[in-house]
Amino acid sequence: MSPDEFRRHGHAVVEWIARYYERLETFPVLSPAQPGEIRSGLPAHPPEQGEGFDAVLADLDAKILPGVTHWQHPSFFAYFPANASGPAILGDLLASGLGVQGMLWATSPAATELETLTLDWLAELLDLPARFRSDGPGGGVIQHTASDATLVALLAALHRASGGTTEHRGVRTGQYTVYTSHQTHSSVEKACRIAGLGAEALRKIETDEATLAARPDHLARLIEADRAYGATPALVVASVGTTGTGAVDPVAEFARISHDAGAWLHVDAAWAGVASVAPEFRWLNDGLELADSYATNPHKWLLTNFDCDAFYVADRAPLLGALSILPEYLRNAATESGAVIDYRDWHVPLGRRFRALKLWAVLRYYGAEGLRAHVRTHVALAQEFAALVEADERFEIVAPHPLALVTFRLREGDEATLALMHRVNASGRAYLTHTTVNGRAALRLAIGAPSTELRHVEQIWELLSS
Ligand code: PLP
Repeated sequence: MSPDEFRRHGHAVVEWIARYYERLETFPVLSPAQPGEIRSGLPAHPPEQGEGFDAVLADLDAKILPGVTHWQHPSFFAYFPANASGPAILGDLLASGLGVQGMLWATSPAATELETLTLDWLAELLDLPARFRSDGPGGGVIQHTASDATLVALLAALHRASGGTTEHRGVRTGQYTVYTSHQTHSSVEKACRIAGLGAEALRKIETDEATLAARPDHLARLIEADRAYGATPALVVASVGTTGTGAVDPVAEFARISHDAGAWLHVDAAWAGVASVAPEFRWLNDGLELADSYATNPHKWLLTNFDCDAFYVADRAPLLGALSILPEYLRNAATESGAVIDYRDWHVPLGRRFRALKLWAVLRYYGAEGLRAHVRTHVALAQEFAALVEADERFEIVAPHPLALVTFRLREGDEATLALMHRVNASGRAYLTHTTVNGRAALRLAIGAPSTELRHVEQIWELLSS
């Protein structure tokens, strides 16, 4: 594709995206496609001769869109949001246009240095403890996802707990243990499996029935029991905003217990963490100054297209110890000088996209003020929704909702609650998902799409309550 052709098709693509946002509300939120339907509408074999890009765009409308669930739809209330925004899309396009691979500082110095700077900016915006900034022994890196962040935190924790032997000798069954709330995201169990510890190494901490936060007394008892039979507690994962209900674990108490046991404390604030851009939500950072690592996802609720997880460590040495390998073909003077960061040593893959561009674009375009307004709008809308639920005696709220997630159910019971969700989702007019709270089904309404307004919240309530 010549630069001239690229210019023509590029304009058409940008126009297509702009028009998509203009007509977003006309689409059913949840794709009604049946399994196999999209594939069967497309040619089974690749073309022998190349086709014009116009043909690709035409198929996008006719063949692909019917199978798209519209995550940016203002009535998308499922899971957690996966924000997209103009500046992030354009930043991503620029990263694709540059096509650099920033595995080493030397392979594109700007990719590394902009990432370091942008993560320091984000740390400042969120008022994270100084230990996570890059001017000390710690620092930040963009991981693909919060799941990757948990995995690398575990690898760093194992490196530290083993004195650096796990990389060479691996681990024995039952040697290391990991702890997290049973309300936590499944990525912690997945990390245990990937790291070779096995799911049995994971201990689930009981939660308080009212706050749904994990209980420090139970964490302490689990650790004590494991140490009594000779296991080494390697990692504790505290959640700031659990996936099910948005519960916040007591990070400071977890830190004290973890450090007494020599375990690494990772704080997973995948969804909720970015809310601390607004000073009134900085309580989300309580205890962080004691954590070994921290992760939050601008790709969830901070206007930055997937994927972009901001991962911070207080001390980068164990992370580099766990993940550095320097084959001959990557040797270069800059690396050997010790004066640069090589982010390939901070995550699982070797290669890396220039993802800092989209985050940098977002932080510059919205500024601290715009980011605060974004988060505050959703929290205020969630409180409006919660008030509507509370005022209807057929419903009950089942978890605290200080941010933009409201968890509720029909008093009638699980069957009625889930049937209600299926009816709303099948209508195509809104989309929400469910969880289990204290053994009973509950619905989750997560507000976070940039285009959601009060009228969309009123509409979902109208759907639910009628
Ligand atoms: N941790 C928490 C608390 C989450 O809520 C989620 C996703 O919702 C994740 C981790 C996983 O996120 P990711 O898709 O970035 O791996």
